[in-house]
This record gives sequence, structure tokens and C-alpha cells, in this order.
Amino acid sequence: MQIKEALRTAAQMLSWVENPQKEAALLLCAHLHVERTWLLLHDADSLKDAEGYFALIKRRHAREPLEYITGTASFYSRTFLVDEGVLVPRPETELLVDVVAGLLKKDETPRILEVGVGSGIISVMLAVLFPRATFVATDISSKALANAQKNAHLFGVASRIEFVQTSYFEGVEGAFDVLVSNPPYITREEILDAHVLKEPHGALFGGEKGDEMLKVLLEKASCAPIKHVACEMGWDQKASMEETLNTLGAQEINFYQDLAGLDRGFSATLKEK
Ligand code: GLN
Repeated sequence: MQIKEALRTAAQMLSWVENPQKEAALLLCAHLHVERTWLLLHDADSLKDAEGYFALIKRRHAREPLEYITGTASFYSRTFLVDEGVLVPRPETELLVDVVAGLLKKDETPRILEVGVGSGIISVMLAVLFPRATFVATDISSKALANAQKNAHLFGVASRIEFVQTSYFEGVEGAFDVLVSNPPYITREEILDAHVLKEPHGALFGGEKGDEMLKVLLEKASCAPIKHVACEMGWDQKASMEETLNTLGAQEINFYQDLAGLDRGFSATLKEK
């Protein structure tokens, strides 16, 4: 079977995705370990291991996220490594990186704490943007920490990020300028698409209401030597986060919206300790 025929058949099998041709090509690149331009130049070649390629197409057809199959995800215009032990990076989380960047100054040496580091996209990206920043990044999942460590090495920032397997930031010592987190914040009742349910549930569901972990995190942060917090949250959690932050005596509370115009997160200055 020629490469172009294989691509055509695969795209037909993936007709339900937004861009079948693109996904068929990306999966073939992952299968052959080549760039997309290579496919264009070799589309009349016969495809080696067609069975292996169609096995990938079948996984995608079974609603497995494309990123888990290719092992990579795009975030902040870079390519990160991801596996099924972490949440697939979402474009809206780029805004959280920008919010933290807005709290920092380039020439300083900030200390940043990330809780629930997952694939590592936030800390690694901030480490790239702020070459003098140092980090402690936690996760309860050893799979997530392993994935994040790979990305830290890939981007050459591993020496500035200390990874700790713990709940929230238990056992982590020292003062921090910013605590950043994209914790699980989805309510258990929310009906999610089949492909989202293939992601680790521990990274998605924050409790019955969804905002339980965010509240615990803010309470803990408020008692710790941490200056600012910046978190992603659910579109319907603004009122409860505002109330929690006010109760904790936080100042300069700013909410931000995602590209769909939905409330998606906040930053705040915690009360002085
Ligand atoms: N934004 C993700 C989603 O809607 C959830 C991320 C999270 O819970 N931190 O699937």
C-alpha cells in the first residue's frame, strides 16, 4: 500500500475528528519517526508496517487522545512529551503561564512552587521564560513526576526544578514568591467526552463540587510563607474562589477568562505572615 493510499484510508476512518487528514498524517509521522514534509516527498512510496500504522489509527478511533498515541503535545508553541499518566495540556493553561509571568520580574530570582505538576508544562515553560527562577514541583503521582522530569531534561531546566512526591506541598520547606497550580477541579457529576475520560481521573476530578482541592490548597497556602497564588479553576467557580480568597484576607484578587470568554482562573496576593 502506498503512503498516500494509507493516509486516505486512515482519514476516512477518522472522519469524526475535526481534522482527519492532519491527524492521519501526524500519526503516520509518529509511526515512521519522520517529519510531515517527508510524507509529502514520499507519498508514492510503499508503506512499511501498514499494520502497525493502522493499529495506531484504531486506538485513535477508540477515542484515545492523539497526544497519548504520538507521545507529544503542543503547549506554548513547544513540543512536550506526554503519556497516559498525565492530563493532555490544554491551550487555556497557557494563560496561567502568562498570569504567573505577569507576577514576576525578569531580572529577579523567583522561587516558584507548583502543586500538581502533571506533565510539567507550567514549571518547565516558566523555567524557560525565567532563566533565574528555581522551582519545587509536587505531585502525588509518581507517573506524572516521571513525565515532568523528562520534559525538564528535554528543555534543559532539570537542575532548577526539584520534584517532590507529596500531597499538596506537605513536607516542602522554604518561602516562595508564587504558588501556581492547575489542580483537579471538575465536579464528579460533569459529563465528560469519551476522550477526556481516558485521561487520569485523579488529575480531573476535584471532589463532589469540583472546587474542594482548590479551597484546601488556598487555605494551606495562606498559612505558608507564600506571597502570591495563581490557579486555574472551573468556569463556574469564581464566586466560591472569591469568597475563599476574601475569607483568607487575600488582596489584589484578579480573575481571568479563557479564549471562550469563560472564567478560568485567578491570581491573588496572600495576607502577610
Ligand atoms: N480543563 C480541563 C478539562 O476541562 C480540566 C483540567 C483540570 O481539572 N485541572 O477537561
